[in-house]
Amino acid sequence: MSAPTAAELLAFDREHLWHPYTSMTEPTPVRLVTDARGCELEVDGRWVVDGMSSWWSAIHGYRHPALDAAVAEQTGRFSHVMFGGLTHEPAVQLGRRLVEITPEPLERVFLADSGSVSVEVAMKMVLQYQRGVGRPDRTRMLTVRGGYHGDTFDCMSVTDPVGGMHTMWAGLLPQQVFAPQPPRAGADAADVAAWATTLRHVADQHHHELAGIIVEPLLQGAGGMWPYPVECLRVLRDVADEHGLLLVFDEIATGFGRTGHLFVSELVTPDVLCLGKALTGGYLTLAAVLTTDAVARGISGSEAGVVMHGPTFMGNPLACAVASASIDLLLTSGWKAAVTAIGDQLTAGLTPLRDLPGVVDVRTLGAVGVVQLDHPVDVVGATDAALAAGVWLRPFRDLVYAMPPYVAGPHAIDRLVGGITEAVKAG
Ligand SMILES: *Cc1c(COP(=O)(O)O)cnc(C)c1O
Repeated sequence: MSAPTAAELLAFDREHLWHPYTSMTEPTPVRLVTDARGCELEVDGRWVVDGMSSWWSAIHGYRHPALDAAVAEQTGRFSHVMFGGLTHEPAVQLGRRLVEITPEPLERVFLADSGSVSVEVAMKMVLQYQRGVGRPDRTRMLTVRGGYHGDTFDCMSVTDPVGGMHTMWAGLLPQQVFAPQPPRAGADAADVAAWATTLRHVADQHHHELAGIIVEPLLQGAGGMWPYPVECLRVLRDVADEHGLLLVFDEIATGFGRTGHLFVSELVTPDVLCLGKALTGGYLTLAAVLTTDAVARGISGSEAGVVMHGPTFMGNPLACAVASASIDLLLTSGWKAAVTAIGDQLTAGLTPLRDLPGVVDVRTLGAVGVVQLDHPVDVVGATDAALAAGVWLRPFRDLVYAMPPYVAGPHAIDRLVGGITEAVKAG
């Protein structure tokens, strides 16, 4: 049988495959990827710069020899074995690295199979911890508006209830406690203090029922690409300590250097840390939850005595092997200089877009560049315009944004800025 043509693949896809947040009956167009290398994708037969890193994950770009080799080598041994009652070198070596490169007290590692599952596990840990230390009434999470923590039900419950994508589930989800969105990065001390006062008030009102706090530290991602001051994290840490709450940082998007810090948790230490997305360099689905010995002991004091969670593909050896290779590559690749250079170039290239009609804001943090419009982006038109300029983008809501692979050099970032500019004009 001959290989299907591009048209045949796309026709079947259109009839039968769901895509993220996309209608099955009236889908927006999807495009065929046939190859990928470095920071470029071959889309509809044309090489374009990938501005999205496949949703924050492909930090080293595509077909990296070290990552390809890690997968191939592990495939030559075994690709998967159950993690119940068994262990293997890839999981142990990854666990060792994660304990080493994250802040000191985070030393107990749960390997989950996606970011959303890791958030579920983190929240389950928080609730079980509170039960374990004799506070079973503490069952709610405190979070801030504007957040995004994944698409499963408990994750949706801490995602922004109005601005987020889960409005339709209001009432069916666990009822969490929301404080206002932190002020934006660069806000003055008075704004931070006013936010802190409100947050403290909310925490005081609910402290008897609160188990923990969960936020995306320093940068809210899918909720609106919103950077905020590190002082807010210090306030959250203090409030958590004052009320006996566990502080959870969801660094699924911010981890592994994206913000200019290897982890934001280096600035303020959480009790529980979720990692995902770039963990495997974008090769395979894997996430991790790290916590402290004290939390692990608290959980062990709960009636179950164990973390009641165990995905079939927990600790998948292929994913662990490529994650270790990705971390080694990151640490030896001069990531910080690369992220700084990309950030500087995005800032210089995107700031002038402030003067375009319809643009309300341009903001950058680390290797992330965001242009906010005064209206919802025409996603199809903006995507077409970016592709015509040789760039892959996936705008959402009122945002055209990019977080390219760290291997994208000045020439690629130049093209990326050009693509964002065309997308903004068309969007
Ligand atoms: C993407 C994301 C998630 C969900 O991860 P999945 O792997 O898509 O389940 C959770 N939290 C944050 C901050 C994310 O960016």
